Amino acid sequence: RAKADGGNCVRFFDASLDAQMREQQALLVALRAAVHEAQFHLVYQPQVNARTGAVMGVEALLRWTRPDGVSVSPGVFIPLAERAGLMPHLGTWVLREGARQARAWQVTGREVRVAVNVSASQFSEPSFVRTVQEVLASTGVPGRLLELEVTESALLQDVARVRGVLEEIKALGITVALDDFGTGYSSLSYLHALPIDLLKIDRSFMPSAQRPVHTILSAIVGLGQALGLHVIAEGVETQEQQDLLLDLGCERAQGFLYARPMSAEQVDAWRQDRPVRR
Ligand code: C2E
Ligand code: MG
Ligand code: MG
Ligand code: MG
Repeated sequence: RAKADGGNCVRFFDASLDAQMREQQALLVALRAAVHEAQFHLVYQPQVNARTGAVMGVEALLRWTRPDGVSVSPGVFIPLAERAGLMPHLGTWVLREGARQARAWQVTGREVRVAVNVSASQFSEPSFVRTVQEVLASTGVPGRLLELEVTESALLQDVARVRGVLEEIKALGITVALDDFGTGYSSLSYLHALPIDLLKIDRSFMPSAQRPVHTILSAIVGLGQALGLHVIAEGVETQEQQDLLLDLGCERAQGFLYARPMSAEQVDAWRQDRPVRR
């Protein structure tokens, strides 16, 4: 680090910082091995229409289980993979695996759209659109059964390029969602400048007993509606949150109240057990 910062400057030795850096380094070594040894799998979390109970889709979420059986949280390893330049590769694996599963559900008559997270570095790859096209072609999944979730940070690039990429994605029939909406740093102007279908409201805006305010939640739902976008709330854990969302006119929801992320087989069982309301 000292070297990267420009050379022969003297640094105070900080034992805890040193331990932290060693830990990160060890994790990175393990992560590189994991990429080669296929220690990853996907879990799927249902997205529902909270009013009708209909299943709107599932979000594919990446899991890493180390050979010692320990699971590492994506909140830890994804930023690390991103910094280490591993994300375009790992992200392509996720896309392919998510598409393969969407196709498997389609051919067994349990059609459901699969939403896949796309990292900023993956989105910036010049080959990104080609990769998506190749994955559709090789898995045989129609674009309408795929959704790509991008974050505001992925969109912080040349706006003409971003618009071009999103238009090509949409031309394939794929849904484009803006993930963790409200937590990024970008301007709101892209919301109508870009072909986005769906806003995913970050779960930090969900009111709770500790934080009972719903001003921002209500403003975001209103913004999405005013722009003609679909809006989905993530991190819905309680009946109260669901009722508030329905009052605000936000019917789509994802969260532990409905289902945790689970294996494809568990999704099948969960769907089968679901009473259909009208
Ligand atoms: P995200 O895309 O916003 O995904 C939603 C996260 O919220 C997931 O965490 C999910 O398990 C969690 N969640 C869902 N419902 C609830 C709830 O009711 N309560 C609480 N407390 N949490 C809930 P997870 O799986 O740990 O993923 C964390 C983040 O890691 C994701 O946030 C996403 O940014 C990233 N991530 C996961 N998989 C991938 C991937 O394949 N590619 C990329 N680029 N990022 C991924
Ligand atoms: Mg997501
Ligand atoms: Mg999200
Ligand atoms: Mg989030």
